[in-house]
Amino acid sequence: MKPRRILVVEDEESLAVGLEYALAREGFEVVVARDGTAAMEALKREALDLVLLDVMLPRKSGFEVLMSLRRAGRELPVILLTAKNQEIDKVHGFDLGADDYVTKPFSLVELLARVKARLRSRADSNMDCPAMLEIGPARIDLRALRATLDDRVVELSLREADMLRLLWRERGRPVSRERFLEEVWGHESSPTTRTVDQHMLKLRQKVERDPAAPRHLLTAFGVGYRLES
Ligand code: CA
Repeated sequence: MKPRRILVVEDEESLAVGLEYALAREGFEVVVARDGTAAMEALKREALDLVLLDVMLPRKSGFEVLMSLRRAGRELPVILLTAKNQEIDKVHGFDLGADDYVTKPFSLVELLARVKARLRSRADSNMDCPAMLEIGPARIDLRALRATLDDRVVELSLREADMLRLLWRERGRPVSRERFLEEVWGHESSPTTRTVDQHMLKLRQKVERDPAAPRHLLTAFGVGYRLES
């Protein structure tokens, strides 16, 4: 597999060097930009898999960089490096389309775990799941966003389709509410675990013959949900 390329945008020299070293040791290719303008240029020039983006930067802030990246319609995962106690930065960062954040000072172990989790969820999201699923009596077309149950055809939302993909990949195994939030919702609009339950209720109405006594979209008590196809 070809190595993943990560753009590190950080103006503190010791931190930039440390990150470059640690990421390279893990097998990543690393591009470093030391201010917001250099980051914009690197984003135009380089083929990248992920961005580690400091918020406080000379010339252009991390927020400005993130904003123009998302305005250009690019979905590259971005992990913000925020200063301690800047709660407002996190909220603002998610509003602008950040995927995750770490708070300085952070441990390299934690940062690497988050980088890998981001790259993994990106790689998994469209893999290992066919476009057509059969869940009990229901036939699901994940591309057309339609579920056919007996002779009734209903529309699925994008979120419902993503929930089904995740359940399908883990079929037979319980999937926690937290994992749904992480992989289906990302960090947008601060949903709660109740949001997952509400979506599951709707999904059961579309996929189960008797939504009140589900046979395929099962509750994993104390955890979340499990698919038995
Ligand atoms: Ca900085």
